[in-house]
Amino acid sequence: MKVCVYCASSNKVDEKYFEATRTLAQNLAQDGISVVYGGGSNGLMGCIANTTLQHGGKVIGILPRFMDKVEWGHKGLTQLVLVNDMHERKKLLIEGVDAVIALPGGCGTLEELMEVITLKRLGKFTKPIIILNTDGFYDHLKALLDKMVEERFMRTEHVDIWTFVDKPEDIIPAIHNAPTWNSDAINFAAV
Ligand code: AMP
Repeated sequence: MKVCVYCASSNKVDEKYFEATRTLAQNLAQDGISVVYGGGSNGLMGCIANTTLQHGGKVIGILPRFMDKVEWGHKGLTQLVLVNDMHERKKLLIEGVDAVIALPGGCGTLEELMEVITLKRLGKFTKPIIILNTDGFYDHLKALLDKMVEERFMRTEHVDIWTFVDKPEDIIPAIHNAPTWNSDAINFAAV
């Protein structure tokens, strides 16, 4: 099994976010689940990579060349794939994965998460999308998504696109228990 993890590049975030990331990494490695991520060496990105590798797991990084030139890339990954730009990276990050996990992050994480949610709404991505709501970090995003459904910018069926969990230990069970989704979702993409 292989999962894509979106997460923060900042080194300055609270220790609680690193702790949750380490727990996830350990659980993934123990279950033999490979990680595909943005290829960075900083912040929660570096943390998910280092901890997964330390526990014997496999980590594949997808990094745009311009980031490699400024030494943002992680040097010790199982595999580092260099791509031309951010668009190519986002496409490759989710290719062939069994699930996507979004940990707390900044605008980059949010952008990646919104793209994969949109692709799933259109039936172009059908795998579970799990959002780790460490200490309520994503409460406002959850409220906004609920509001979009409530105000009929999206349909009630669309709440099955994502799953919010509070603890890193809940992520793998949430992947296994996520509602199924089909490529025919395009048929009810419009309200
Ligand atoms: P952010 O949440 O704004 O820190 O951005 C993190 C996401 O954007 C990651 O999942 C990466 O794909 C990308 N990204 C942003 N900054 C970096 C960086 N310094 N190194 C590698 N990837 C980054």
